[in-house]
Amino acid sequence: MQLQSSFSFFMPTRVLHGQNIIQDEQSRLGEMGTRCLIVTGASSAKASGAFQDLTSALENLGIRYELFDQVEPNPSLENVAQGGDAARRFEPDFIAAIGGGSPLDAAKAIAVLAVNDIPPQQLYDGHFANTPLPIAAVPTTAGTGSEVTPYSVLTITDQETKKGFGGPDLFPKLAFLDPRYCQSLPFQVSVDTAVDALSHLVEGYLSARANDASDMLAERGMALWGTCLPALQIGEGALDTAVRDRLLVASALGGMTISHTGTAYVHSLGYPLTFYHDIPHGQANGLLLPGFLRHAESVNPDRVAAILRHLDHRSTKSLGDTLASLFPRRVQLSQDELDSYVEKTLPTKNVTHSPGTVTREVLINTLAENFSRP
Ligand code: NAP
Ligand code: ZN
Repeated sequence: MQLQSSFSFFMPTRVLHGQNIIQDEQSRLGEMGTRCLIVTGASSAKASGAFQDLTSALENLGIRYELFDQVEPNPSLENVAQGGDAARRFEPDFIAAIGGGSPLDAAKAIAVLAVNDIPPQQLYDGHFANTPLPIAAVPTTAGTGSEVTPYSVLTITDQETKKGFGGPDLFPKLAFLDPRYCQSLPFQVSVDTAVDALSHLVEGYLSARANDASDMLAERGMALWGTCLPALQIGEGALDTAVRDRLLVASALGGMTISHTGTAYVHSLGYPLTFYHDIPHGQANGLLLPGFLRHAESVNPDRVAAILRHLDHRSTKSLGDTLASLFPRRVQLSQDELDSYVEKTLPTKNVTHSPGTVTREVLINTLAENFSRP
């Protein structure tokens, strides 16, 4: 057996997993400081129960807190700038983020802006005079893995796209993984976000940057995820806490995987689908994965065969059909739209990290699979 390549492995987040984990490990929050800005979306932090658990832990520890609950789905630069203003007024020692990828990603931007009074566009420069505030992250979706990644994906409205920034200081210091917080998720959001986690695992496993450490994470994550697929196909009642728990851990393993490999072209091709057509992030990825897998199979059939084994499918065609069946609504794109989204994707580094040679035709074929007019 040969090693894939040399690698550097860095994962500084302390991941704390289990039911009631905030309560059980609350003393860890005491190590973060005495003032906390809580960053959430409009309602899910409270609906999930995570807000109540976090604030009671903060109160037990005598930590003062303020709430910024205005994070929008797919947060924009303007939205995180508002959070940065709130943070500079309150002067917290740390940020606690509760939610899906949107509040978690926004919190990373706010952690930078809290101590660097810069226009949000400068988040993409990557060098900050002052080290971002530490973050404690509480995911309420099992999807993005943002609680263990150094990335934040934001919407740049005037460029009509989404774009990530990141850096080693943006890994959350703490991640509290409690599957009970995912129980309040509407069924279709559960499916969309679960498929995002799968996309991270698959894109990372097929990445040109994959190494032995990232493979270990991706393989275990896919094995766990594969055991949840039947429940995602059955429907709401099948998503019990045990399934949600495996999805949550698979999602964190996916986050750790892409922290080392980055994502492949599925993610950058999906951003215009979210921006222009409001297709949820995970759903966009799920409808692009079948074409991506078909392309990858021509480059690395052994790896695609391993993915199919983990997901208990015999061919990329049948897996593509299963994934497509999870998303009832469909958007049909014109040729101009297909061309324009491909133009936006071609220059991204995700294309370089993808397996094989990714041409315009490969991207058009990937999009056409689920988005072209009949
Ligand atoms: P999300 O945008 O955070 O949340 C989607 C919706 O689900 C929101 O309406 C949210 O409500 C609601 N919700 C969340 N948790 C809930 C719960 N437990 N119960 C009921 N409702 C709940 O979705 P997401 O898919 O997790 O995150 C997507 C974002 O993450 C995108 O911007 C994507 O680009 C980014 N992303 C980041 C990374 C990374 O490495 N950093 C990786 C992949 C994707 P509220 O608005 O009330 O919270
Ligand atoms: Zn994603």
